[in-house]
Amino acid sequence: MKCDPNLYRATPPSLAVKPRLIRQLFVPPLIVLLMIGLGYVGYRVSEHYGIRTLSENGERQLELHARTVESEISKYTYLPSLLELESSVSALLKEPDAEHRQTVNDYLEGLNRRSRSRAIYVLDTTGRVLATSNWRDADSYLGEDLSFRAYFQDAVRGLPGRFYGIGSTSGEPGYYLAHGLEEHGKIIGVAVIKVRLEALEERWQRARLEAFVSDENGIIILSSDPARRLKSVRPLTPEIKERLARSLQYYWWPLNELQPLARERLAEGVETLTFPANTELAKDGDSVSYLAQTRRLSDTPWHFTLLTPLQDLRREAANQGILVAVAFALVAFLLIAWNERRKVIATRLAAREALQEANSQLERRIAERTADLRASNERLKDQIRERRQAEETLRHAQDELVQAGKLAAIGQMSTSIAHELNQPLAALRTLSGNTVRFLERGELDTASTNLRTINDLIDRMGRITASLRAFARRGDDKGESSLGKAIDAALQVLGSRVETLHLEVHRDFDDVQLAIDQTRLEQILVNLIGNALDAMQSQPLPELWLEGDFVEGKYRLRVRDNGHGIEPAARKHLFEPFFTTKPGEQGLGLGLTLSASLAAAASGHLGVEHPGSGGTAFVLTLPRVPPAKAEPI
Ligand code: ADP
Repeated sequence: MKCDPNLYRATPPSLAVKPRLIRQLFVPPLIVLLMIGLGYVGYRVSEHYGIRTLSENGERQLELHARTVESEISKYTYLPSLLELESSVSALLKEPDAEHRQTVNDYLEGLNRRSRSRAIYVLDTTGRVLATSNWRDADSYLGEDLSFRAYFQDAVRGLPGRFYGIGSTSGEPGYYLAHGLEEHGKIIGVAVIKVRLEALEERWQRARLEAFVSDENGIIILSSDPARRLKSVRPLTPEIKERLARSLQYYWWPLNELQPLARERLAEGVETLTFPANTELAKDGDSVSYLAQTRRLSDTPWHFTLLTPLQDLRREAANQGILVAVAFALVAFLLIAWNERRKVIATRLAAREALQEANSQLERRIAERTADLRASNERLKDQIRERRQAEETLRHAQDELVQAGKLAAIGQMSTSIAHELNQPLAALRTLSGNTVRFLERGELDTASTNLRTINDLIDRMGRITASLRAFARRGDDKGESSLGKAIDAALQVLGSRVETLHLEVHRDFDDVQLAIDQTRLEQILVNLIGNALDAMQSQPLPELWLEGDFVEGKYRLRVRDNGHGIEPAARKHLFEPFFTTKPGEQGLGLGLTLSASLAAAASGHLGVEHPGSGGTAFVLTLPRVPPAKAEPI
C-alpha cells in the first residue's frame, strides 16, 4: 500500500515569522552596524584630509628646518681646508718636531675657540695626530692613530671626509669633517674638525619640534627625543651590524632599530609612524602617532625627518566620525519615525476606505434587499389576489356543484318521488270518488273518515315536496342546525326506501346544535343514509346505526350500515367527484364529494371507516354551537 507522503510531512516550523517581527529584530542591529561603519568612514575621511592638510603645512616646516640643519652643517665645511693656508701646519707636517707641534697646537686651540667647534686636529698621512686643539686635556688626541677612521681614509685620498661618529677617545658623538692638506698637488696630511650638533637638538626641543636626522647608514644621529638617538630607521641585518661595529663609527654603542608600533607609507618621503608613548604620564600600551616627512639634506647623505603629532588630528577625526554616526542615527531615527507615521496614516486611510466600502456595500445590500422585499411583497399581493380569486371561483364552483348535486339527487329521486306522490294521488282519486258516493248515500261518517284520510295523504304529500324544496334550496355557510331535526328530515326524505327495505335504525346520538346550515346538514345526511340504503339493497336484515359522541368541542356522528362495504381498490377514490360504482343512471358520483365540501365549509370533516365486522361507517365531525348560543329545540 502506498502512503501519501503529504500525510506524514511534518508541519513546517514556525518560519512564517511576521515581516514586522523580522524588521524589529534586524533593523536596530543594522542601524548600529551602519552607525559604526559610517562613523569609521567619517573618521577615515577626516583623518585623510587632515593628514593632507597637515602634510602640506609640514612640507613648509620640513623645508625650513632642513635648511637650518643644512646651514648648521655647511658652516664648518670649509674650515679644515683653511689649514692648508697655514704655514705652521705645513711646517709641522714636513718637520714634526716639538716646537712646530706647539705652535700648531696653540694655533688650533685659538681657532677652535673662535669657531666654537669641539676640536680641530692635524694628522700625518699615516693617520697619527700631530697637533690638536685639545692638547691640554687629559684625553687629548695627541699621538693617537686614527687611520682606521673613514673620514681619514677618504681625506687622505683627496675626497671630502664627512663622518658622524662617536669619538674613540672621548666617547663623545660628533660630526667630523676632514680635508686632505695638499702641497704641490700631493697630500701631506689631513686636517679634521669635530663639531657638536647638539645645539640643533636643543633648538628643536625649545621649539617643541619633533625631528631627527639619520645618516647614510640610517642611524639617527640627531634627535629631539634622546631616546631615539643612535637607533636605526632601517632594518639592521646582522651583517650590517657587524660592519658598523667594526668601523667603530658609533664606538661600542649598541645599535637597535627604531621599531614603530605601526608604519604606513602615504607618499614618497611621507608616512605615519606610531611609537609607544614614553612620557612619564603615559600608561602601558599608550602610543603616539606622527606624520613623518623626510627630506634629504643637500651635500650630505643624511636625511632630515620632521615628526608632526597626529594626536589632535586623530581626536578631531574621531569627533568627526562620532558626528557622522550621530547624524546618521538622527537621520535613521527620523526616517523610521516618518515611516511609522506613514504606515499609521496608510493604515488609517485603509481602515477608513474599508469602512466606507463596507458602508456602501451595506447600503447596496439594503437597497437590494429592499428591492427584493418590495418585489416579493408585490408577488405576495398578486398571489393573495389570485388566491382570493381562486377562492371566489372555488366557492362559486362549490355552490354550483352543490346545486348540481342537489339537482342530480332530485333527478335520482324523481322516480321515487313520482312513485311516492302517485300512490297518495291514486288513493286520493279513489277516496274522493268513494266520498262523493258515500255523501250521495248519506253515509256521512264514512265520508268524514275518508276526508280525514284524504287530509293525511295531502299532509304527507306536502311534507315530501317541502323537504325536496328545502334540499334544493341554496344554503348558508354560517347557519345553525339541530342534529335531531336533520336526521328526522333525512329519514323522511328517504322514507319510502327505508320502509321498503324494512330498515332497522339504531339511534344513539345527542340532539346537539351544530354550526352548519340546517339544509346543508340534511343534505349531507340524505347522501350518507341514501348510500347506506343502496349498499344494503341485498341485505336481508338491513341495519343502520346513528351514533354520536363529543370530541374536543366538536360533535362526531358515525353513520354505519351493514351493507356490502367498499372494495379496497375503490376506497381511495371515494371523495373524488363523479366516482361511482353504481350502474347506469343510478349514481352521479357527487354525493360524497359535496357532503365532504359542505362539512369542510362549516369547518368540519367527513371521513370513512371500514369496520372489520363488515359494512361501512361514514364519520361526520362538525363544530358545535356553544350551549349559550344554542336555540332551544
Ligand atoms: P353515488 O351515490 O352517486 O354513486 P356518492 O359520491 O354518493 O355517489 O358515492 C360514491 C360511491 O361510494 C358509491 O358509488 C358507492 O360505491 C360508494 N359508497 C358510498 N357510500 C357507501 C356505503 N354506505 N356502502 C358502500 N358503498 C358506498
